[in-house]
Amino acid sequence: MLNITIRLQDAAAHLWQVTCAWQVAADAPQQTVNLADWVPGSYMIRDFSRHIIRMQAFHNGHEIGIEALDKSRWHLQAACGEYCLEYEVYAYDWSVRASYLDEQGAFFDGACLFPWLDGRQSEGYRIHIDLGEWGREQQWQVSTAMAQTAANSFQAASYWEAIDHPFTLGLFRQYAFQAAGIPHSIIISGQTLPFDEDRLLADVEKICEAQIELFGAAPFGHYVFMLYIGDHIYGGLEHRASTALMADRWSLPRLGAKERGDEYLQLLGLISHEYFHAWNVKSIKPAAFDPYELHHEQHTEQLWAFEGITSYYDDLMLQRSGVMSTPQYLSQLAKTITRVEQGAGSMKQSLAQSSFDAWTKYYKQNENSANAIVSYYQKGALAALVLDLYLRRETDGEFSLDDVMRALYRRHLQDGRGISEADWRALASEVTGVDVSALLHQMVDTTTALPLAEVLAEFGLSVHRVARPEKEAGWVASLPAHLVQETAFGAKYSVDASGLKINSVANGGSAELAGLTVGDTVVAMANLSMSQFEAVWHSLQVGDSVGVHYFRQGVLYQTQMPVLAQAASTVLLHTEDEQLLSYWLPQWQ
Ligand SMILES: [Zn+2]
Repeated sequence: MLNITIRLQDAAAHLWQVTCAWQVAADAPQQTVNLADWVPGSYMIRDFSRHIIRMQAFHNGHEIGIEALDKSRWHLQAACGEYCLEYEVYAYDWSVRASYLDEQGAFFDGACLFPWLDGRQSEGYRIHIDLGEWGREQQWQVSTAMAQTAANSFQAASYWEAIDHPFTLGLFRQYAFQAAGIPHSIIISGQTLPFDEDRLLADVEKICEAQIELFGAAPFGHYVFMLYIGDHIYGGLEHRASTALMADRWSLPRLGAKERGDEYLQLLGLISHEYFHAWNVKSIKPAAFDPYELHHEQHTEQLWAFEGITSYYDDLMLQRSGVMSTPQYLSQLAKTITRVEQGAGSMKQSLAQSSFDAWTKYYKQNENSANAIVSYYQKGALAALVLDLYLRRETDGEFSLDDVMRALYRRHLQDGRGISEADWRALASEVTGVDVSALLHQMVDTTTALPLAEVLAEFGLSVHRVARPEKEAGWVASLPAHLVQETAFGAKYSVDASGLKINSVANGGSAELAGLTVGDTVVAMANLSMSQFEAVWHSLQVGDSVGVHYFRQGVLYQTQMPVLAQAASTVLLHTEDEQLLSYWLPQWQ
């Protein structure tokens, strides 16, 4: 048993004091203390030990030496007796996968604070939260899904369980509801404006009910949504019985609004996504993560199945539970197809490669990423859609991806082991009686375009690719009769007083052909200032060539830019047959 106290040492200086005490029953050569370098669910080395300011170790009350083995492992002597390790941790990383602490509140993921001892990860952990003078004066509350044993004291059966229950401290609002008879709570911290609390609760409850119904049972006895509301933030991290979420203030449902706005639907999509992970990745998990190894990267080609399928179901669950209308759902789908197809990276990296290289590519994106990599979230969601519709078609609606997910969960309940990609594919075929190996090989292991138009046509939807700006992708009640040929600049940019700054360049676009690159500042086009860039650009015709002046590294250059047409790559979905569509999306509203 490890006894850990997390003490709020100094809110203004963002400091935790961590104390970890344990017994060594018999003399041994030495013992090794570890701190995680990454957190499950977020595939990047984060080196949490860099936030440790000082560390001391004690044996039976006397200070002893600590031998650092590397950045996150330390040797202590190992005579029998009582050991105590104390360290101070700087906490001001505003993310769902680390820790932060200030006068308004605090959050931490156990992976960045709790140590483990070699060979003793399966021992129990007792966690005590000491709010310190500041927290007590402010009457801070503590929330976590970890089992509570006394006031501010909690217990987990192992290191793995201890780090899978994040904590929120501070003054927060707490809401409770039941889904399928299971208690759920939503805690909201951060500054909010008045919002429609009833609608939020009712919508989240519907989403939870739909997911529990899909799997037939839940892997938790209670569940906590921890939502931090801030400014221009967005993110979530899944845990076994809770999720840490961050969202913008404006994403909460407005009081008196008739419709659910796009920002609110995006928040519901995030909630749905992280909740679905309680089954898909926290229960059903890739073989490579069984067990997790938190000192170095764990590569797997399977993230497409765990993030992609979860991304497919996040919005689908909103549609199925009636929170999102079918046109809204189909519009989101059209946007996802557009984003995947417009990135040249989808022709260069397969889903398996994207999954494998997540650590160094997806999580370390740069200005060229859209040209080089494909998202295992977005393309993975589309592969899941194709697989779902293919199974429905091949079995005349008897089986779908739902059956595969249920079977995967049943398998997990039986043996609790991670599943390999080969076993995953074999199980999908076995459960449905449809050989999906060739389809999955094509979709996951190659860069061949997904057969989206073919499968969607079977369910009454036509796919149209038009030369319009990406933001116009969506479901349309009627197709546009005539499209004006649009011009495409071929770069993302921002405009300020110094000119137009190039942020990223699409392969083969007008900007790249003119020789413009990331970091260039365009100061004139057709000899006109960039303060009116949009107006200047829209005065040009496809086929024109326009003079451009730009600075690179402080030197002025001049070039000619060919004005290319917008590629026909923005996707419109249109319903051809509502009856056929209803076999996949039964409710139309
Ligand atoms: Zn996810």
